[in-house]
Amino acid sequence: MLTIGAHMSIAGGLAKTAEHVVAMEADTMQIFSRNPRGSNYRAYEDAEIAAFQDIRTKHQFGPLLAHAPYTMNLASANEKTYEFANMVIREDIRRMDALGIENLVFHPGSHTGIGVEAGIRNIIKGLDQAVAEDQNIMVLLETMSGKGTEIGAAFEELKAIRDGVRCPEKIGICLDTCHIFAAGYDIVHDLDGVLEEFDCVLGLPLLRAVHLNDSMMPLGSHKDRHAAIGEGEIGLDALLRVITHSALRELPFYLETPFDEEGHKREIAMLRKELGISPPV
Ligand code: FE
Ligand code: FE
Ligand code: ZN
Repeated sequence: MLTIGAHMSIAGGLAKTAEHVVAMEADTMQIFSRNPRGSNYRAYEDAEIAAFQDIRTKHQFGPLLAHAPYTMNLASANEKTYEFANMVIREDIRRMDALGIENLVFHPGSHTGIGVEAGIRNIIKGLDQAVAEDQNIMVLLETMSGKGTEIGAAFEELKAIRDGVRCPEKIGICLDTCHIFAAGYDIVHDLDGVLEEFDCVLGLPLLRAVHLNDSMMPLGSHKDRHAAIGEGEIGLDALLRVITHSALRELPFYLETPFDEEGHKREIAMLRKELGISPPV
């Protein structure tokens, strides 16, 4: 079994986007929870939501993933930035949960000079005012490349966040292959070792999703530049080993490679062919 999809634009609406997932022969998708570079979002009509749910059920989509906007920095010491981030995470957890979306992923944030520990304290406080015991949706911390003052490039930092919150059972992890490679985890030569380390620090059961990307930048570069599968420093063989690894193969994989829908469709077909797996019916 392989569950694979791509990051999709929802500019055409929820139901249209779900139709595109089917046309791409994908099993799932990632969408932005709101405008990724701003703050606005669209409220969907009931009919639109019903059409979306129909397609999703009929085609047995795998877990859906919503991605919080890049403008959201829960680690920030700037009052306005922090208040905005608190509002966005609080609202988007509710909004995405109401749509029955399984997971919401966010970048833990950048401490911008106040230090990792103070940044992590801010993230914990921000999550505590947003995460509710009775929500269905899981909130995922994304593994980061560690550019600038970014938090979350080390598994230990993600662990510290999860351990600090009031409802840790609602917090999972989204592993981004490009980011962990750029952070210095050598998934090309030692995938087993990296996953063992993940298991020791965080525990493999916390993994809910994988962002499947190649990396334009080398191991440990702390630079976040996604490459097409097989066109970067990780390479096709190593990424195929990620998809088929016994600890990962049941997870949903989401492409965030530099392509439009046509390109992602080709990339999904190429991966299925390499693995000898036929597309969904
Ligand atoms: Fe991300
Ligand atoms: Fe990612
Ligand atoms: Zn990235």
